[in-house]
Amino acid sequence: MKYLSTRNPDHLVSLSEALRDGLAPDGGLYVPETLPHVDGTKFVGHSHIRYIAEDLLAPFFAGDPLAHDLGDICDETFDFDIPLRDLKDDTALLELFHGPTAAFKDVGAGFLASCFSRLNKGAEEPLTVLVATSGDTGGAVAAAFHGKPNVNVVILYPKGKVSPRQEKQLTCWDGNVRTFGVHGVFDDCQRIVKEAFADEAFRDRINLTSANSINIGRLLPQMTYYAASSVWYRKRHGVEPNYVVPSGNLGNVLACLYARECGMPIGEVVLAVNENKPVVHFLETGEYKGFDTVATVANAMDVGDPSNMERLRHMWPDVDTIRQKISAYQVDDETIRQKIRTGLDDWGQVWDPHTACGVAVREQLDSPHWIVVSTAHPAKFDTVVEPLIEREVTIPDQLAELLDRPDYSSELDPSLDALEAALVD
Ligand SMILES: *Cc1c(COP(=O)(O)O)cnc(C)c1O
Repeated sequence: MKYLSTRNPDHLVSLSEALRDGLAPDGGLYVPETLPHVDGTKFVGHSHIRYIAEDLLAPFFAGDPLAHDLGDICDETFDFDIPLRDLKDDTALLELFHGPTAAFKDVGAGFLASCFSRLNKGAEEPLTVLVATSGDTGGAVAAAFHGKPNVNVVILYPKGKVSPRQEKQLTCWDGNVRTFGVHGVFDDCQRIVKEAFADEAFRDRINLTSANSINIGRLLPQMTYYAASSVWYRKRHGVEPNYVVPSGNLGNVLACLYARECGMPIGEVVLAVNENKPVVHFLETGEYKGFDTVATVANAMDVGDPSNMERLRHMWPDVDTIRQKISAYQVDDETIRQKIRTGLDDWGQVWDPHTACGVAVREQLDSPHWIVVSTAHPAKFDTVVEPLIEREVTIPDQLAELLDRPDYSSELDPSLDALEAALVD
């Protein structure tokens, strides 16, 4: 299997190269050259997702040096539960929040970490993953890469600009993960990262790479939980499920669409989006344009110009085809808050704001057999959720363990020079 750039079908690379580079040199995103047909009937006998992952991903690793390690990569990535829980009213919940930082990004980050540590095996210098984060992504990357051989992680976050609980998940790492609280805002962190990548000498000196959300290595493992849950649902209920996917940068929903193209028993796919408009505007008008980002209570979906739109439009260049393949519903903040407030009464559940957005969409759909994708645990968004439900949310064990650890971070002035000086210490 080769991977090609969305901007140049002749630019073919191996899986290892696509993972290592993240973005193609022409600025495009890597996509698989074909989506293989996978026989899902053999998944029915597998109750653990790890085995489904290995079978599903094998064709995507074919011919790559990492293919020999696929079994171990799956063991490391899927070492937490991903249950599909039946609720009421022909609705099930796909719980993606049982990983180390209690959100679905743990899956992609874990897979990338396992791949990166093997890509660089035997090299003299470790790879250094540099991440600017406004909160969640950095925590998932840190947790995934911590303790992995041959890779270091450097995290920059805006000191004092993230919630206390988010900050703990960024600052509790030692060893091969270093976290800097930057005196500035998120844009300063992002600027330093861009300057670092643009500075060839710096890039070579620390063997720099990125692990951001456009890496194809995030999408591949995410296909696994759609494959698994669709097969489990059909086995339980005799019909193929439809999906509601809370979406921002569209990485998660694209994995669902890839799984369906590979032949998994997946019916309709509906995106639940917050007040950010790009997807709904595109489906309504047929014209794509980016918007300024609007801040909402479901802040991990605050994306005005989703990068994975480029993968979606590469797969189906014609907007009418896209309209047949997906639909999107917009949910405003007041509705999200309302769903969180009434979650216990209506569903017996405390929702995080992103899942609540998905539930709001499910409640508008009259047809049966929907899986709502739950992207995060509510304890992660305590500052939004607790005032609405007027009680504390129980913190899952794995998150509690992180929150208990000491702070290993240092502070940093907002410049590349300051970062360089800190890193040579
Ligand atoms: C990142 C994130 C999303 C959005 O996922 P995309 O792949 O960017 O569409 C939804 N919910 C949570 C909790 C997230 O962290």
